[in-house]
Amino acid sequence: MATGNKVDIGFLEEKSSWLLHPKFFPSKVGGKPAWLDLKDLPNPKELTCNKCDDPLVFLCQIYAPYEETSNAFHRTVFLFVCRNGSCCQTNASDSFKVLRCQLPRKNDYYSFEPYEEIETHDFPMDDWPKLCDVCGLRGPSHCSKCKKTYYCSRKHQILDWQKGHKQVCPDLQTTDKKPNNFVVTEAGKSLLFKEWELIVDEEDEEDSKDVDVGEEMDKLRKLMQEKRAGTLSNVSEDELEQYTKTMPEDKVFNKFSKRVARHPDQVLRYDRGGHPLWITGNSGNSLVNVPNCQYCNGERQFEFQIMPQLLNFIGVGIEINSIDWGVLVVYTCKSSCDQGPAYKEEIIIKQDLSS
Ligand SMILES: [Zn+2]
Ligand SMILES: [Zn+2]
Ligand SMILES: [Zn+2]
Ligand SMILES: [Zn+2]
Repeated sequence: MATGNKVDIGFLEEKSSWLLHPKFFPSKVGGKPAWLDLKDLPNPKELTCNKCDDPLVFLCQIYAPYEETSNAFHRTVFLFVCRNGSCCQTNASDSFKVLRCQLPRKNDYYSFEPYEEIETHDFPMDDWPKLCDVCGLRGPSHCSKCKKTYYCSRKHQILDWQKGHKQVCPDLQTTDKKPNNFVVTEAGKSLLFKEWELIVDEEDEEDSKDVDVGEEMDKLRKLMQEKRAGTLSNVSEDELEQYTKTMPEDKVFNKFSKRVARHPDQVLRYDRGGHPLWITGNSGNSLVNVPNCQYCNGERQFEFQIMPQLLNFIGVGIEINSIDWGVLVVYTCKSSCDQGPAYKEEIIIKQDLSS
């Protein structure tokens, strides 16, 4: 990952699920989380929405080691979000959670040398805590009939029963068959986001000559305004046009869209120790004081931001009352400390384009 004045950009590519296994230390979006520390997983009771108390759903993870810190030879930051659009409020990140996890090169889970990219099933997960069959969070409870499927919560157990476990449960009771935890179940499909690999590469230093910046800016502006209008009410095309014209000029947004036009499909900007690219100058929340790390009391710094383009790839954000964001800005402990639990909570700020 680049540091200093170079920014890294994340793009999405389809990839076979087996290549997104924890042993390959993936950066990815959607599906189930590829946990790093496989034993001291977060308690699902703590991975619930602050607003509605539902279990949070995995959104994405960024593999971002600190090369200079031996305890963070492997390091991944995980984002979770509540699936209920009504919990997702303007400029508020109550329905999101960020967790940071890190391991030294020599650890209890993974080999010292990188794994070969071949499809084998030589990585037994039986030694580690069971995961929820639906969402991949820790699953402390199990189906009392077959005792083979595990769940993070009663909510997901009920969902799984309705979406097909009712049919397969009798079979599981009479055979040695074990459900494969990496397969996304029907219940999972109704809840989890589409899975993608997140590829990280350097941003172009110049504005692109192949892309019409003005056109890309218009496209982005239109997308953001449609979403904004959609969350207000159902407006006609004419009204939307009118609304767009009366928007006061937003210099921050202009700068944002001009920079984004270099790579229109970017879903991530990674710039540890740098500055976020805010989406608007009108929201006020770019001035927030980020609290110090609650584990080591040291400073936090900007690490990366998730872009609104991600909404298009995971199929949300267009319909009224779905989850939505302008940018999701993540701050983490500057020294990437080792204190606290294996999965340490960090800070996320949500900035929306709406005023
Ligand atoms: Zn919620
Ligand atoms: Zn679950
Ligand atoms: Zn069962
Ligand atoms: Zn710290």
